[in-house]
Amino acid sequence: MDPHKPRATDATQLAADAATEPHPATLAVHAADADLLTCGGATPLYLDNAFSFESAEALEAVFAGRAPGYVYSRIANPTVAHLERVVAALEGGIGAVACASGMAAISSAVLALAGAGDEIVAGSSLFGGTHSLFRQTLSRYGITTRFVSATDPAAYEAAINERTRALFVEVIGNPRLDVPDLAAIGAVARAHGVALLVDSTAATPMLVRPGQLGAAIVIHSTSKFLQGHGTAIGGIIVDCGTFDWSGSRYGHLATLYRRARQLTLLAYLRNQICRDLGCCLAPFNAFLTSMGVQSLGARMARHCDSALEVARWLRLQPEVCEVRYPGLPDHPDHALATRQFGGRYGALLTVRLADRATSFRFINALTLARNLANIGDASTLVIHPASTFYREIDDETRRAAGVSDGLVRLSIGLEEPTDIIDDLRRALAAAHTPTPDCGVHSQTPRTPKPQGEKS
Ligand SMILES: *Cc1c(COP(=O)(O)O)cnc(C)c1O
Repeated sequence: MDPHKPRATDATQLAADAATEPHPATLAVHAADADLLTCGGATPLYLDNAFSFESAEALEAVFAGRAPGYVYSRIANPTVAHLERVVAALEGGIGAVACASGMAAISSAVLALAGAGDEIVAGSSLFGGTHSLFRQTLSRYGITTRFVSATDPAAYEAAINERTRALFVEVIGNPRLDVPDLAAIGAVARAHGVALLVDSTAATPMLVRPGQLGAAIVIHSTSKFLQGHGTAIGGIIVDCGTFDWSGSRYGHLATLYRRARQLTLLAYLRNQICRDLGCCLAPFNAFLTSMGVQSLGARMARHCDSALEVARWLRLQPEVCEVRYPGLPDHPDHALATRQFGGRYGALLTVRLADRATSFRFINALTLARNLANIGDASTLVIHPASTFYREIDDETRRAAGVSDGLVRLSIGLEEPTDIIDDLRRALAAAHTPTPDCGVHSQTPRTPKPQGEKS
C-alpha cells in the first residue's frame, strides 16, 4: 500500500463509499482513522484557539461564508469537527454541532428553535437536568414547556398549538425507563410541522437511529456511552436531514434558509446560537470522545447483554420489590422496545427496595459498583435518585418519573456479569430486613425462584 495515499477510512467516507452501508458498529470502529494529512492512525488533536490564513483575502472569504476554513475554536475546530462527522454518520444525519455538555446541547437546540412567547412539549419522564432547564430556567426567558405523558402520542398532539416550536422526548426515560413510540410521536410532529427532538443518550445509534423514525434532531450527552469511560463531559446535536426548516413555525430561519437550505439549522446553531452562547466542546474532550466512540458497538452489546442478565437475576430476589428494565417481558413497553431497539434494551435498570434506609444500606454494601452520579461508564454505577438528582424536584413530578424513596438506579458496566451479580447478592444480603415491606405499590409480581437458583 502506498503510504502517501491515505486510506479512505474516515467514517463519513466509509458510509458514502459502501454499496450497502456498514453497520453503525463498523462505522464507529473506523471513527479514529482520520489523519489524511500524515497517514497517522489516530484522530489528530488540534488544541489551537485560532488558525492563521495566508492572506487577508483568504480570511475575508471565510468570514463571508464563501470559503470553508477554521477560524476560531469557539465556532469550529478540526478535532471537534471530526467527532461531529463521526456521530452524524452513526446517526445517518447530515451534520452535527458538538457542545460542552449534554445540557449545553439540549439548551442550544431548544434556543435555536424557540424564543420568548414560544412553547415546547416534552415527555414528563426526563433527565433531572433537562427537567430543571425546561421548568425553571427556560420559563424565566419566556419559553413555556407543556409536560405530557412521555408514552402517549395523543397527549403530545393535544398539547400542540400555534406557538409550539419543538417536541422533546427521551428515547428511554431516565430514571423511569419508559420507552416512547418514536415513530408515532414522529408522525404527530410531522403532521403539525413541528420538529421532534430526541435525547438518545441512553440508547445510542447502536440501538436506534431516531432520524429514521421521524426525529428532526438527535441529541446525545456524549459524557455517557459515546465517550464510555467517564473521562470527558460533552454533548452533540445531530440534524437528521428529515425536517424542512422553511416551515411557518420557524420564521427566524427564513432568511438563512434561502442560502443554507437543508443546512439551515446546523448553520444557525454553529454561527449564531453556539457562537454567541460560547458553549463549544473542548478539543481534548472531542479527542477522548472520538477514541471512546470506536468501541461503542462492542461496549453497547456487552452493556445490554449484561443488563438483561442482571435484571433477570434481580427479579428473582425476595429482597427486591420491583425491577424495571425494558428487556423484561412484564415491562409495560417491552414489545415496543423490542421492535424499536432490535432486541437490545440498554444498560440502565432500576430496583425498588423496601425503603430509603434499605437502599442506602444496599448502596453502601456494594464493593464493585461505584456510587456516583453518572451512567454509561465502563464500571457498573449505582445511585439513589430521590436523594440526589431528583432532590430538588417536586413530589408530583418525582412520582410521575417513578422515583420512590426505595428506588436505586444501576448502570450496568463492562465487568464480567457474574461478578456484578455476586456484588449485588452480597449487598442485598447486607441490606436485607427479614420481611421486606414493599407496600401496596408493587407492580412487578415476584416469580418464585426456580429450583437450584442460588440467592
Ligand atoms: C447526562 C444526561 C444529560 C446531560 O448531559 P451532561 O453531559 O451531563 O450535561 C442529558 N440527557 C440524558 C438522558 C443524560 O443521561
